[in-house]
Amino acid sequence: MSDNFTLSDDRPSEECGVVAISAPDQVASKLAFFAAYALQHRGQEAAGIAVADGRAVRLHKGQGLVSQVFKPSKLDPLVGPYAIAHTRYSTTGSNSERNVQPYVVETLEGPLGLAHNGNLVNADDLRNELLENGAGLQSSSDSEVLALMLAGAEGKSWEERLAKVMPRWTGAVSLVVITSNKILAARDPWGFRPLIYGKLPTAGWAVASETGALETIGCTDMTEVKPGELLVIEGNDLRRHQIIETKEPQARCTFEHIYFARPDAVWDDLSVHTARQSLGEELAREHPAEADVVIPVPDSSTPAAIGYARVLGVPYNEGFVKNRYIGRTFIEPTDELRKQGVALKFNTLSENLKGKRVVMVDDSIVRGTTSGQLVDLVRAAGAVEVHMRVTCPPIAHPCFFGVDMGSYEELIANKLGVPEINDHIGTDSLGFLSVERMMKALGRDDGYCNACFTGSYPVPVQLNLLTTKQRFDGVIE
Ligand code: SF4
Repeated sequence: MSDNFTLSDDRPSEECGVVAISAPDQVASKLAFFAAYALQHRGQEAAGIAVADGRAVRLHKGQGLVSQVFKPSKLDPLVGPYAIAHTRYSTTGSNSERNVQPYVVETLEGPLGLAHNGNLVNADDLRNELLENGAGLQSSSDSEVLALMLAGAEGKSWEERLAKVMPRWTGAVSLVVITSNKILAARDPWGFRPLIYGKLPTAGWAVASETGALETIGCTDMTEVKPGELLVIEGNDLRRHQIIETKEPQARCTFEHIYFARPDAVWDDLSVHTARQSLGEELAREHPAEADVVIPVPDSSTPAAIGYARVLGVPYNEGFVKNRYIGRTFIEPTDELRKQGVALKFNTLSENLKGKRVVMVDDSIVRGTTSGQLVDLVRAAGAVEVHMRVTCPPIAHPCFFGVDMGSYEELIANKLGVPEINDHIGTDSLGFLSVERMMKALGRDDGYCNACFTGSYPVPVQLNLLTTKQRFDGVIE
């Protein structure tokens, strides 16, 4: 028997996914399509592919999933050995057609296309500077700011121009660029967002936000683009340049391990699946519970629940069945749409819950809008106790680096302490993994951004990005 319930979503929303291909002996757009398809979880609002054939750059983009935007009739005309692709979730800039990436502009040096993952915290200053210099902006996205700055930069080559403008970009930038005859890829010096490259099976190279996308198109020899590094790829030739000194400490986004990345991803030499199991194990040591069964909130919490159950010697089982055809859970970008939309659907497996003391493992609590509903579902299925364990610390601060977690006002951990959240969602007990234990589980002392937990931002955040409360509190340096 199962109970049926639909929920709106309460997850941090994805950033974006980027891909770049240099495939001298293949149709690059097809490879870009399949790699972007493998990154669909990083953004489901829009998709685009730009290709180059040595002379022109051609582009198709639109709103929707990769498979909706790219029918054969749209993909087939995109011919050439170079391609970049993007899957989008809007963080800066509204979810409108004009904000869909890649951006392609004509310059004195020929066509230029750009797509990026991340968020600039000084975008407003840079935008104003462009406007004062007479540039016409078509969108509200900071990706257009990047493209226009690069288009107007001085230098003898695109790599020189990128090296000139990149130090002016403060924040998270994992970037792919296409010109008529080459690919560039670069990562900000803090290393907020992942960017990996690998060797294509016959000839050429591919770059993508996650290793899973590269594996999908047969890549080997996968290597992380270093923070501050620029790759220049022409045909089968790949050159690496450290164009900005790596900032110390680095600021990789911890949420890639907690939730965002596919479990088959490897980032910072860590298997994401293994990292999630370790987070669950550490959670069990920090917040054990007397229980009969440990269940995950599927899908991203599954490895952590396995790790939690293993340490305590309590059986792991499924408690929820997710409707997998709905896809990932954060299709709508605005609160209004979130309220209207049915983003998620769970059934419970009451045979695994009835009469049992249940530990429910989840990866995060953001706004606190769905945890209570999940707890109600588990109780309705017959659980006698429900204990919730969360594989990260309370999220009490917004992200300014490309992850939509909501504002201070929306974050439940900014308003309530753990005992109050426990009351609010109706659990018998509630435990969050501490920052220290989280980093211990990842086996890292530093090199990660944990600002959404600690409020300690790795780069100064521009005041006009902040909410009223932040301005008054002056919490950002
Ligand atoms: S603030 Fe949080 S979500 Fe944003 S980059 Fe830092 S760790 Fe990631």
